[in-house]
Amino acid sequence: MTAGCATDEKQQADRPNIVFIMSDDHAYQAISAYGGSLAKLAPTPNIDRIARDGMRFNRCLVTNSICGPSRATILTGKYSHLNGFISNEKEPFNGNQQTFPKLLQKAGYQTALIGKWHLESRPTGFDHWEILPGQGNYYNPDFINGEDTTREIGYVTEIITRKSLTWIAGAKKNRKPFMLMIHHKAPHRSWEPGPNELGMYSDVMFPEPSTLFDDYANRGVAEHSQDMTISKTMTLETDLKLMKDSPLKNLTPEQTKAWKAVYDPIITKFFGSELTGDDLTRYKYQRYLQDYLACISAVDKSVGEVLDYLRKNGRDKNTLVIYTSDQGFYLGEHGWFDKRWMFEQSLRTPLLVMMPDRINPGSINNDMVSNLDFAETFLDIAGTEIPPDMQGMSLLPLLEGKRPGKWRTEHYYHYYEYPGWHSVKRHYGIATERYKLIHFYYDVDEWEMFDLEKDPDEMINVYDDPAYDVVKSKLHGQLDRLRKKYLDSDSSQQQFLPTVAMDVE
Ligand code: CA
Repeated sequence: MTAGCATDEKQQADRPNIVFIMSDDHAYQAISAYGGSLAKLAPTPNIDRIARDGMRFNRCLVTNSICGPSRATILTGKYSHLNGFISNEKEPFNGNQQTFPKLLQKAGYQTALIGKWHLESRPTGFDHWEILPGQGNYYNPDFINGEDTTREIGYVTEIITRKSLTWIAGAKKNRKPFMLMIHHKAPHRSWEPGPNELGMYSDVMFPEPSTLFDDYANRGVAEHSQDMTISKTMTLETDLKLMKDSPLKNLTPEQTKAWKAVYDPIITKFFGSELTGDDLTRYKYQRYLQDYLACISAVDKSVGEVLDYLRKNGRDKNTLVIYTSDQGFYLGEHGWFDKRWMFEQSLRTPLLVMMPDRINPGSINNDMVSNLDFAETFLDIAGTEIPPDMQGMSLLPLLEGKRPGKWRTEHYYHYYEYPGWHSVKRHYGIATERYKLIHFYYDVDEWEMFDLEKDPDEMINVYDDPAYDVVKSKLHGQLDRLRKKYLDSDSSQQQFLPTVAMDVE
């Protein structure tokens, strides 16, 4: 072996590992590192460790707030209209296209993906993958690995964690750096807590958001015609598990026993209470949060296990660990659960990143970043060229505290899944640091505009307020330029107009 080869090998081995942990539908409001009214009642101490030892991003915005499209954007560094996966119901993800895992593989990384995939086609660009079929099950989930499907007995979050640590242990023996995507199913609807978290919040009363009873006054057709309220859309049976004689169907007898021990008393009490109207909505909100936050508690423990494993095995110094969600989520704001809208709770997703020696502990970043930037960041960290057709920007300078003079101050958004689950109308728009301008185009053609400085809850549509005429005109110009920049247009929009209703969430 020549000296040159030895150096190359050493440099290869010195490149950072990447552990990308993504949950599904985890609201930033439910991460205690972000503060907020739930932080003390339902803390996430392990996820918070990433913020404590690394950087917390306060304004990470997604390009299209829905499961599959977010994943496709993360893999490709491109908007939905270019990567082709615009909504969950359309064509499967085209795995022949350029993705960051493929480029990392080419650069000598070992790559793996474990957990939820939700892109219909089989994963490409991974040396190893084990995925849940579709949404997967919380209890006793099936995993697809190549041609085989295997049922695992246990709780999905714990199984994904175990499989992930097993893969890292194997990767350790290899001199190549690795990139692992740990994709949790939790806390996706219908929020089934694991055996170790059952009932943990049964006696907690969570504060209600001030907009729980939003009546959508002065807003348009889109808000009035959606189907995602806690009061009307959320079901007592499946969502809130108030099923008298039939708990979840796929549990083992032992799991059923543990489940019933927690839920039977809740069910009895509920049916004795005869709640109606706003009282019923208030009750549903509490019940929803109890289960949702218990699912998150298992994810938090999983993050702790991964961090502990890396530290105990001396892998923490040279590993970039990211925690994020595929998008944000409503925890009763505007009376809603679910996501999809360009409003803050679903546009914004949590992003916490740590890497000792490279990111200053306790850093806080307020720049406008996006899941569009993840692919570019990973390639940059690996010292690999970022292809010019990727549309985001590497976050590495921000992570290292070397903020470029000019950083993004406007963000483009486009949501397509209508008609479909929850009936949220198609819309695109621009978010700046202070304003949002949103166009609900398909079958509505209405514009809305919000001033987040004066109206952080986004309750007052100021589009027709003459006081905002100058700002509005400027935003229209900015939005037009952004659409050109990202190669979105009325004609690209046209090709994605819906033909059939969807049946997946
Ligand atoms: Ca999701």
